[in-house]
Amino acid sequence: MGNLMSDAFLGLNREELVTRMNEFDEPAYRASQLLEAVYRQRVESIEQISTLPQQLRLKLADIGWTIGLPKIEKRFVSQDGTVRYLMAFNDGQSVETVWMPEGDEGESGDGSEAGDPVSGSGRAWGRATICISSQVGCAVDCQFCLTALLGVKRNLSAGEIVGQVCAVLRDQKVSPPQDRINLVFMGMGEPFLNYENFMKAVRLLAEEVGVPESRMTVSTAGIVPRIDDFGQEPIRPKLAISLNASNDEMRSLLMPLNRKWNLEKLMAAARQFPLRNRERITFEYVLLNGVNDSIEDAKAVAELLRGMRAKVNLIALNPGPGIQFSTPGEDTVTAFQHVLMKAGLPAFVRRPRGRDIFAACGQLKRTVEIAAAPAP
Ligand code: SAH
Repeated sequence: MGNLMSDAFLGLNREELVTRMNEFDEPAYRASQLLEAVYRQRVESIEQISTLPQQLRLKLADIGWTIGLPKIEKRFVSQDGTVRYLMAFNDGQSVETVWMPEGDEGESGDGSEAGDPVSGSGRAWGRATICISSQVGCAVDCQFCLTALLGVKRNLSAGEIVGQVCAVLRDQKVSPPQDRINLVFMGMGEPFLNYENFMKAVRLLAEEVGVPESRMTVSTAGIVPRIDDFGQEPIRPKLAISLNASNDEMRSLLMPLNRKWNLEKLMAAARQFPLRNRERITFEYVLLNGVNDSIEDAKAVAELLRGMRAKVNLIALNPGPGIQFSTPGEDTVTAFQHVLMKAGLPAFVRRPRGRDIFAACGQLKRTVEIAAAPAP
């Protein structure tokens, strides 16, 4: 079968495509045709690239080249319009990608529409966010996250990261930049432990797929040296950091990586991160009932972030099997939020999306065995 990974067009940039076309004795403009077909039209097979001469299409297919779109193995559709996709790659590994429409249609909440994914085809809709995975599983081992239970199987290639977006855009029949698509690298895995592939995917998404970098956000559990590298990137998403605790003792319990990169190191990296005009760093904070959700915790968080261009996204724990924590009540969440806002920190409560289909933050575990029926 040869090396399957290197025989896919998805993941190759302009320079690499020009080199490949050279090797095939083809003119350089074939690279432009391929970029257009793969990233803009999002064709499924080489056969469908009508701009290439038939002979070349046959030749490429013959020597085993493919587009490399991941296969949508399953779709779970939530009452709130969220769709959780199970995406399978060449080697049989799979990850999850989540489509979250916003606005009227996404919020219809009418169970009868649950089988009909929102599509941009001719209908007015607001905007949507795609949540992308960067690794199969995760090595970071946060105690409240379901993905951690998988351990890490492998990194995704740049093509597999971009491929998730292309497959979802294709399935939903939408196209950036006409359709307002936000991308969040907040799915399975730790993007900063797969830094090179993640960054290559970002550049392809910005330059070839057409999603502006200002519409992308990456979240890290706090891989400090990569936060520094990330700040130097000419093209980069916005930065979010998973804080989740107000002191080292608690953070080390919840997120073992805090023993390596503690709050002092993390906050130093955050404070010296070169922000752009009007940009803020987002700090995510998962509220665990009776664990990190007190008024004192809120005050300590406000103290940690004092004077920074920051905002806080509060996430009430999304529960899951094997997770020993519980979700705080709404009044606890609101009280926490108010302490932050009184201290002058913008604080938002992240609405859970697709909890009923295990698509919400921290729930991505390739859960196939759930009550919600897969969409046809
Ligand atoms: N590994 C990266 C990217 C994942 S982002 C990171 O940790 O930032 C996923 C976000 O969901 C993180 O902010 C994480 O703290 C949060 N999260 C994890 N498990 C959760 C759960 N069970 N309920 C709510 N949020 C959770």
